[in-house]
Amino acid sequence: MSLALVTGGSRGIGSVIAINLAKSGYDVAICYSGNEKAAEETVEKIKEAGVKAMALKADVSDPDQVSKMFSDIKEEMGNVDVLVNNAGITRDGLLISMSEESFDAVIDINLKGTFNCTKLAVKDMMRAKHGRIINISSIVGINGNAGQANYAASKAGLIGFTKSVAREYGSKGITVNAVAPGFIETVMTESLPEKVKEAYLGQIPVKRFGSAEDVAAAVEFLASDKASYITGQVLEVTGGM
Ligand code: NAD
Repeated sequence: MSLALVTGGSRGIGSVIAINLAKSGYDVAICYSGNEKAAEETVEKIKEAGVKAMALKADVSDPDQVSKMFSDIKEEMGNVDVLVNNAGITRDGLLISMSEESFDAVIDINLKGTFNCTKLAVKDMMRAKHGRIINISSIVGINGNAGQANYAASKAGLIGFTKSVAREYGSKGITVNAVAPGFIETVMTESLPEKVKEAYLGQIPVKRFGSAEDVAAAVEFLASDKASYITGQVLEVTGGM
């Protein structure tokens, strides 16, 4: 059975991606930064699909923690076949008031975290001559967004990273793609003022906000054998936004 690792899989979009992959038959490991209870709840839901599951507390921005996470997963469940780099944070603010700490934190987790995890996953995938890496970017990484210079830079960086790694390892049976969600209803977005939400809705041709399930379906496709001839791509899940 194939094993998927979903970073930031304890809640929000990552949790739905993890549960959806479990329903497709993957064993699933998730990592998370803080909320152990949410991680345990997600693990229970993954197990309900009849597959193996484990949760690991690991900060993806720390190479030592990532290295320990991969060896713990290997010991318990085997090699990672599908890596979903989903862990991400925002620290919004206009550029002139954005602190260096806010800039660094977002780049370290969203971009460097993906580098740390991908580097380790690729080594095992090369040996297996098969692998799927799916990086959760954002439409903001393509279009930019006022108040999110740090976040947009991290998500744009993920796109360049995706296209480069895809070129390096395509010949080894490893595909690397990005999913760029638009406005997805989660805790990350529910705190936005109603007026801002209405303005976004006006820009979405399909006239609804996205769901975590919409993103999970795109990830499931890119992880599958049906997507074996697709690499280095950015799949927008935005309702046409
Ligand atoms: P969320 O805040 O609900 O969940 C984030 C997850 O990342 C949590 O599981 C958390 O534990 C984990 N995490 C945070 N920092 C971490 C770290 N240092 N190490 C390990 N794990 C860490 O977020 P969400 O809304 O579900 O977003 C998930 C992904 O989708 C993010 O990459 C986000 O940028 C992206 N995204 C979200 C939206 C949206 O509308 N919500 C839109 C586009 C892209």
